[in-house]
Amino acid sequence: MENIYGKKLTELEDYFEKIGDKKFKALQLYEWIYKKRIASFDDMSNIKKETLMTLKRDFNFDILQIMSRLDDKDVHKYLFNLKDNNKIEAVLMKHDYGNSLCISTQVGCNMGCSFCESGRLKKVRNLETYEMVLQILEVEADLKIRISHVVLMGIGEPFDNYDNVLDFIKIINNGRGIDIGARHITISTCGVIPKIKKFMDEDMQVNLAISLHAPNQELRSKLMPIAQAYNLKDLITIIKEYINKTNRRVTFEYIMLKGINDSETNAIELAKLLKGINCYVNLIPYNETSHIEYQKSSQEQILKFYDILKKNKINVTIRREFGSKVMAACGQLRSLYKEEQ
Ligand code: SAH
Repeated sequence: MENIYGKKLTELEDYFEKIGDKKFKALQLYEWIYKKRIASFDDMSNIKKETLMTLKRDFNFDILQIMSRLDDKDVHKYLFNLKDNNKIEAVLMKHDYGNSLCISTQVGCNMGCSFCESGRLKKVRNLETYEMVLQILEVEADLKIRISHVVLMGIGEPFDNYDNVLDFIKIINNGRGIDIGARHITISTCGVIPKIKKFMDEDMQVNLAISLHAPNQELRSKLMPIAQAYNLKDLITIIKEYINKTNRRVTFEYIMLKGINDSETNAIELAKLLKGINCYVNLIPYNETSHIEYQKSSQEQILKFYDILKKNKINVTIRREFGSKVMAACGQLRSLYKEEQ
């Protein structure tokens, strides 16, 4: 028995053919699930009884359990309980351009970035495709809203769960279903080069964000173990290739850590590194956590850094701070829950 929310339309078409029914019936099923949001085979009036029996035998509509929801002004933070009692998080942010959901892709994370709460709890397993799809459906139902943007920036490294993440994107992007435009979906990676290469060949219009966080190899490899496996020079080379091939602008995320990577020298170095690359830099005020000693850069320092990048003609924005009151930095809620246990 499989979870129906993990099936791509093409897979359902194959399934219908296999059980001796017409391929186009898969589309009807898909619309019941994602357009009408019906979560029971009994309510699907245009599918014949025999087929419904087979469907019931093979698929379930099990959902994730919402364990808690923390609300702040424009942010709602969810803790979900999975079937095997693992916990994951998703954060809904209301922007003027729409509702954006930050979803988790793994239970825990193995990347071990020194500033990140998610990595304190090692990876337990990858999320199944349906567990990612359901984060969207359940938040939409709970808040009675439609989600227009999805960012893969919750717990986990999306490119360490490549196949499920790609299936997930195909499901939510399908116009006959949830229909979230590829340009409204952002994959964020700490820089797993072989997977960036692979992703480049998928020919998807999805946005790519790279967690950079340092302007040179020495500092980056101190903050992010992944840089020891894939160095900065190679990362920049592959990003240039990616931009050439896809014609898409890449975002570089840069967390501002007080006294670590936020000096004027760092800014100049970053500007040099990114010169001529078709990209955006997103400066992220660090979300402080009780377990990790790093501090957030001062507003003044962030602005200085910003100005230097601007002067050097780098497209740069400062991320609006969201949800520090509800502990929205990735992994914070799950890690708190573990402590209370
Ligand atoms: N593993 C992926 C996606 C998840 S992390 C990646 O590394 O990109 C999403 C983003 O949040 C990353 O840029 C990460 O470095 C950043 N991040 C982690 N902890 C943070 C914190 N405490 N404050 C602000 N950003 C944080």
